[in-house]
Amino acid sequence: MTDEFTTPVYDDGDADESYIEDKTVAILGYGSQGHAQAQNLADSGVDVVVGLREGSSSRQEAEADGIRVAVPDEAVAEADITVMLVPDTVQPAVFEAVEDGLEEGDTLQFAHGFNIHYGQIEPPEGVDVTMVAPKSPGHLVRRTYKRGEGTPGLIAIEQDATGAAKEEALAYAQAIGCARAGVIETSFKEEVETDLFGEQAVLCGGVTEMVKAGFETLVDAGYAPEMAYFECLNELKLIVDLMYEGGHMGMWDSVSDTAEYGGLTRGEEVIDREGMESILEGVQNGEFAREWINENQASRPAYKQYRDAEANHQIEEVGGRLRELFAWADEE
Ligand code: NAD
Ligand code: MG
Ligand code: MG
Ligand code: MG
Ligand code: MG
Repeated sequence: MTDEFTTPVYDDGDADESYIEDKTVAILGYGSQGHAQAQNLADSGVDVVVGLREGSSSRQEAEADGIRVAVPDEAVAEADITVMLVPDTVQPAVFEAVEDGLEEGDTLQFAHGFNIHYGQIEPPEGVDVTMVAPKSPGHLVRRTYKRGEGTPGLIAIEQDATGAAKEEALAYAQAIGCARAGVIETSFKEEVETDLFGEQAVLCGGVTEMVKAGFETLVDAGYAPEMAYFECLNELKLIVDLMYEGGHMGMWDSVSDTAEYGGLTRGEEVIDREGMESILEGVQNGEFAREWINENQASRPAYKQYRDAEANHQIEEVGGRLRELFAWADEE
């Protein structure tokens, strides 16, 4: 463990594989995280069974990857650690179908805290409830593991019935490669609230709205949509890559002094801090969660409308045509 951070950060040296080596892990779902975690565990010598419904299209894929498959309730009954890697919106139904297989001393593990934090899943008392969440999409969890590297991850303990929940979560994080890159300890509440806030206010919602607003401002003022596309969307990747590699100062050092002065003096004007605080409040008080749960129960009417509007925005049409001109950019 390194003590130069404000929160515990663990690495390979902190994990003790004896907490996982004799256990059977049931992975429910074989999507982005499921396929990566199952294969990394198997390569680390852990006994893995993937729980998939009869007739699931993922069955053949898992078997082709050399992973044992069973129906979900049988996989859970057999397992010591059950990992919920089906989409968050279907987890409550899957939990109901498998919960009888959870015995005292077993672990119910998540990669995101939504259903526990907002009370959509209530696990039995004698079971450890943990989180091991790679901070990365599944294909990178798999690809970096195969290279002998890993992606950073989070662990959190919601319920520690055995007294060894944290040791086991760390051993799991090591077995999927995360401990090679660093594992931050957090809580379900902190993971969920920062994750939802980040994707709404900054990463997914904030960025796309800023790009669209910039694009529309230029196009409405009579500039060519192609110019607006390159300036507001395409170049964003170059800037974000610089920030990812060297932080804000790495980026400011690489752009022109004119861009740096203009950005430092004008950027703040487009940011609505009260809007951000109100987004955070909606996450903290459960209003967003309730809205999204109801939306799913109603078969997603608003979601479909928002998606249609996004798909029909002029920036999609212009961007689609322009990206064909440099399709080779996808290859990497
Ligand atoms: P996913 O959308 O890739 O798919 C999960 C799999 O679940 C599907 O491939 C399928 O095998 C199965 N599935 C789908 N619908 C089902 C249904 N109705 N009933 C039963 N099984 C069904 O999921 P994911 O993105 O890997 O997410 C799994 C968990 O990991 C979630 O809690 C998510 O928040 C978390 N997570 C995801 C990422 C990521 O980058 N994708 C990163 C960190 C954490
Ligand atoms: Mg069991
Ligand atoms: Mg996230
Ligand atoms: Mg998220
Ligand atoms: Mg420029």
